[in-house]
Amino acid sequence: MSKRFKDDQIALITGIGLGLTLTIQITTLTASDFADIYSQITTASRFFALTGSYLAIIGLLLIARISWIENVLGHDRLVTWHRKAMPYALYFITLHVLLVTLGYAGGDQVRIGTALWTMITTYPWMLPATLGFVLLLVAGVSSYRIFRQSISYESWWVIHLYTYLGVALSFMHQILTGAMFISHPLAKNYWISLYSFVVVAILYWRILMPLAKSIRHKLMVDKVVNEGPGVVSIYIKGRDVKKLNAQGGQFFSWRFLSKDLWYQSHPYSLSASPSDESMRITVKALGDSSSELTHLKSGTRVFIEGPYGVFKASSARRGRHIVLIGGGVGITPLRAIMEEFPNNTQIDILYRASHESELVLRKELDELSDRIGARVHYLVGSRQEHTMSYEYLKKFVPNFQDSEVFICGPEGLVSAVKEAAKKAGIPKNRFHDEAFAFHG
Ligand SMILES: Cc1cc2nc3c(=O)[nH]c(=O)nc-3n(C[C@H](O)[C@H](O)[C@H](O)COP(=O)(O)OP(=O)(O)OC[C@H]3O[C@@H](n4cnc5c(N)ncnc54)[C@H](O)[C@@H]3O)c2cc1C
Repeated sequence: MSKRFKDDQIALITGIGLGLTLTIQITTLTASDFADIYSQITTASRFFALTGSYLAIIGLLLIARISWIENVLGHDRLVTWHRKAMPYALYFITLHVLLVTLGYAGGDQVRIGTALWTMITTYPWMLPATLGFVLLLVAGVSSYRIFRQSISYESWWVIHLYTYLGVALSFMHQILTGAMFISHPLAKNYWISLYSFVVVAILYWRILMPLAKSIRHKLMVDKVVNEGPGVVSIYIKGRDVKKLNAQGGQFFSWRFLSKDLWYQSHPYSLSASPSDESMRITVKALGDSSSELTHLKSGTRVFIEGPYGVFKASSARRGRHIVLIGGGVGITPLRAIMEEFPNNTQIDILYRASHESELVLRKELDELSDRIGARVHYLVGSRQEHTMSYEYLKKFVPNFQDSEVFICGPEGLVSAVKEAAKKAGIPKNRFHDEAFAFHG
């Protein structure tokens, strides 16, 4: 199944859901909903409320870590879609608040402030809904790049959790005051089922499944090995690790239950193909948490979420020449997937770094490529020396245009190779990238 086909299927299901949601409103409309301009404004406000709420719950479903969706579409793309859907949800819900206030104020011939106050203080569940709206606004605004960059990832993450609370707090006022639900049991049941499904999906996939896996597999730190300046590999041992069904190149979100790290969880890719007893990640110290990993003690319990991602050998078409391109610590998932291609696959590895000291896992790469008959090209130096253009890449891989490309590294490197692949006529389904950041 091509990526395009899968996208189309998801779009179709989402579209059907939106169609059903709008049908709720259309089939429950009456003449009084259009009696005068203020009734029309209130009717329009309900349209924005329904569409905005629908988009919000779809946005939450996209990041509910539903494993069969994650495995097909990849976590990175789901996060990208979540980021696209949520601002529209917020705009629509804001329009609902503005229009419903205007409609009620006009209908009752009172000031806007008075209409708003009356709604909040007298309508059922309006106070929680108002609080929910404020929380959605705070979570939404904190995600804008300009604010996001000024706070730590952990602070942003905690604020972002308000989205769940915001959506939950607004639910009862919809059911009890929404004209399309009052005296329309079918519409009401559809809406309750939709919300219930989202709640169950989030509880199951985001909380229960990861907890159960972490407990069942008894994961703990085995050892921490220094790989070079600021880079460590962490070996994690456990029970029946193979049953986690992880593949080289995929990532987990890792929570190390040590005194200083238990409250945060960070994504790291597997840097070796997992065995039945152990997994390995290789981490570059960038901030507080990644720097702290070097002090992990063996025996520290580890909780995981995952495996996630479609950056894996099995995503490639059989028989293709494989080109793996890594920049700096971005080599780690490529090192892992190298082991998982079928025998006799032709593999070229292009490893880009500014200085020799940044070439982590070099010895391992040489040994592994000798064993599987792959060719490693170390491209050390400036961007001017190594332009990563199509013409430049062809010097190392003469049949670059026929290959399947996997790349992981800094944004600049990924964009340069993406451009080269485009020039070579490599279609999107033969180009796989892992960002080490959830890009928008
Ligand atoms: C899918 C994926 C796979 C990754 N694999 C590896 C790997 O194999 N090896 C490696 O060294 N690094 C990897 N990273 C990057 C790694 O997750 C971050 O460097 C790490 O989380 C930084 O945390 P910190 O507290 O040390 O630094 P901070 O200073 O807090 O953050 C540094 C940067 O990392 C981002 N970041 C921090 N925490 C998270 C988080 N929980 N989720 C997403 N982004 C976060 C911040 O927004 C910031 O841009 C991966 C990232 C992603 C998204």
